[in-house]
Amino acid sequence: MTTAKKLHVRHDDVVVVISGTDKGKKGKVLSAYPKTGRVVVEGVRMVTKHQKPRNAGAPGGIIHKEAPIDASKVLLLCSSCSRPVRQGYKILEDGTKVRVCKRCGASFDN
Ligand SMILES: [Zn+2]
Repeated sequence: MTTAKKLHVRHDDVVVVISGTDKGKKGKVLSAYPKTGRVVVEGVRMVTKHQKPRNAGAPGGIIHKEAPIDASKVLLLCSSCSRPVRQGYKILEDGTKVRVCKRCGASFDN
């Protein structure tokens, strides 16, 4: 086991950016990096890269790509509240820990 800190968001979560130039943008988490505390969110912090052709599979040219942002800058979007919310945790009867909306109590997991 590594000492990676656990992120409050994970792959496939829908989040809203709450600070920075992309504030207010909504997107799906494409990847999460618990080790660095960063996430890549679909359509957020797009950067342009000028890539040289390497091989047949990577033709190069100008590519647009999402750059990782700090996970503390995003909040989960609650589908019941339709707004970004803080999350809490709830232990189910079978011992499973799920993430819930602090506002309405809706579960983000399963
Ligand atoms: Zn909610």
